Amino acid sequence: MENTAPQLFKVTIDNIEVEVAPGTTILQAARQIGHHVAPPAMCYYTSLKGTGGKCRACLVKVTAGSAKDPRPMPKLVPSCITTVQDGMIVENTVNEQVLETRKGVVEFLLINHPLDCPICDQAGECHLQDFAFEHGRGTQRYEEERRTFEREDIGPYIQLHMNRCILCYRCVFTADQLTNKRVHGVLNRGDHAEISTYISKAIDNDFSGNMIDVCPVGALTDKTFRFKQRVWFTKPVTAHRDCEHEKCSGKVTLWYKGEDVLRVTGRKNEWGEVTEFICNTCRFDKKKTSDWVIEGPAKVSHHSVISANHYEKKAIPEFGFKQAAQQYKQIDDLPVQLPEGEKKPVGIVVRPDSK
Ligand code: SF4
Ligand code: SF4
Repeated sequence: MENTAPQLFKVTIDNIEVEVAPGTTILQAARQIGHHVAPPAMCYYTSLKGTGGKCRACLVKVTAGSAKDPRPMPKLVPSCITTVQDGMIVENTVNEQVLETRKGVVEFLLINHPLDCPICDQAGECHLQDFAFEHGRGTQRYEEERRTFEREDIGPYIQLHMNRCILCYRCVFTADQLTNKRVHGVLNRGDHAEISTYISKAIDNDFSGNMIDVCPVGALTDKTFRFKQRVWFTKPVTAHRDCEHEKCSGKVTLWYKGEDVLRVTGRKNEWGEVTEFICNTCRFDKKKTSDWVIEGPAKVSHHSVISANHYEKKAIPEFGFKQAAQQYKQIDDLPVQLPEGEKKPVGIVVRPDSK
């Protein structure tokens, strides 16, 4: 009988092989391997069509284009919009050029960014903070005056801080794809580019609150939550309700302080992305526990500051690391439990003298 199973492409990323369907991007293939090799992404958003290819955070080196044509690609490529080929070899965390370039991308994103973290509502769940912490150089060389914008009031629910915007376009795609008319875009170009004017027109739409969730920084924040609490002092709980809005999933995270629901957001997955969007009624008007069916404590991403000091399950060998190192030559042999779905790196030798 003829084999009708779709042909899969073999791709190697940071020495780890994975098989993915044709059409998969390098970034999605890396995500299938796990967090330790997945490139960072500031503008790409899986559930929004057209995102990606703008921030350059996810640049990687393709050292072999495919099995048929194994020549390296001459420049670093954006992994979020570059699709894999069979036999492709990619370097991310193991490539010096990639790591050095990423430092430059962080520096570039921070050129005009204000030092607002102590008073910014996004702090603690900010992708720019994480990106700068993990990939930045800790200093910057920019001495010119930072670009600033006039404050603009865009209504009772969403606070716009254009100074913090990194022009990732995610909110533009959200307004374009979730609201029913195109009233939102990036105005001007270069140093003058801004998203502000049109956003005020998209704000009346029932799904405009999703722009808060997709914004990777504190440029769009929830006015009803503003300055109420640092996010790491709140307790996230998953809940749902039957919402009358056809497109609203009704699946949310409630952010509690004591018995009060301070904020309602869409649920984010392990990559910090909302896959099922919610309406403004659920987000802004349903802030009583009795409005919701509570499911339980929300699973918080392992690298989030909110999960600091909350350990679920530790993968500790039964004996000391030194003994382990003497007995096991390869990481592959170590009795560690990786999170479900993550693959162990291969070929990494554990030195016997490791302390
Ligand atoms: S957006 Fe992020 S990096 Fe910028 S001020 Fe807010 S928390 Fe800090
Ligand atoms: S406001 Fe936020 S989501 Fe919109 S372009 Fe700026 S950084 Fe991106």
